[in-house]
Amino acid sequence: MVTNEAKSLLLNKMKMIQKADQQDICLVGPVRLPVQLDDQIVTFNWYTWLKVEREMSPVDVLDSLSQTTLAEMQQSSVLVYGEFDTEDEALIRMHSICHTGDIFGSKRCDCGFQLRESMRMIVSNGCGALFYLANHEGRGIGLFTKSLAYILQEEGLDTVEANHALGFEDDSRNYEDAIRVLTELRAKPVTLITNNPKKLAALQKHGLLSDTHIPLWGDVSDYNKNYLATKVEKSGHIPSDEKIAIG
Ligand SMILES: [Zn+2]
Repeated sequence: MVTNEAKSLLLNKMKMIQKADQQDICLVGPVRLPVQLDDQIVTFNWYTWLKVEREMSPVDVLDSLSQTTLAEMQQSSVLVYGEFDTEDEALIRMHSICHTGDIFGSKRCDCGFQLRESMRMIVSNGCGALFYLANHEGRGIGLFTKSLAYILQEEGLDTVEANHALGFEDDSRNYEDAIRVLTELRAKPVTLITNNPKKLAALQKHGLLSDTHIPLWGDVSDYNKNYLATKVEKSGHIPSDEKIAIG
C-alpha cells in the first residue's frame, strides 16, 4: 500500500484525463529530467501516463499499483521542453519505441538517429515535446515479433512483406492516447517532426496541426537503405531530396 504521506506528496502531480467511451488516462508529472544531449545537459519536464479503468481517482490508481505488473508492459512517456502551454511555436515528435535502434544503436533502421535529432531540434527551437510511444515496437507488432520479421527480411522480404507474412497489418500504430495527453498539455497548434503522413493525418483530424511539418531523414547507410526506400515506396512516407538520392 502507498503510505498516506506518499499520497499527499504525489497527488498534485497526478491528473485523470477522461473521454467518453474510453478508458481514463492517469498522467503523472512533470518530473525534472536532466538529459545529456551532445555536449550539454538539457533539463526536460517528463510526464508518464497509464491507461486505467474509467472513473478511477488518482488515489485508486496509487492503491492499485502493488497489484499490477507494470514492468511487464512498458509505459509511454513524453519529454517536454520550454514553456509548452504558452509558446506559439512548438515542435512535436511522436517517436515509436525502437529497442534495437534507440537503445542498441542498430543501423537497420533510422530510429536512433531520429530520436536524438528530434531532441536537438526541439531544444534549438526552444519549445516542444518528444512523445516516446511504448506500444509501437516494430510498427505495433512487438519486439519478439520484430525479431521474426528481421529474420524474414534477411531472406529477402521487405518490411511490409515481412509484417504481412507474420499475419499483421503493415502498420497498426495508434496515436490517440498521445494526442489526448498532448491536448492536456497544450491547446495551441503544433508542428510535427515526421516523414509519415499517417502521423500528420492523426493530428490533423484533431485540428492540432500548424500548416507545415518538418521532415527528418538522415543517417542513411548500406544497412538501412532498403528499409528507408520501402518507407517511401510502400508506406507513403514523404521523401526528401536526400532520400531520392539514395532510392
Ligand atoms: Zn527502428
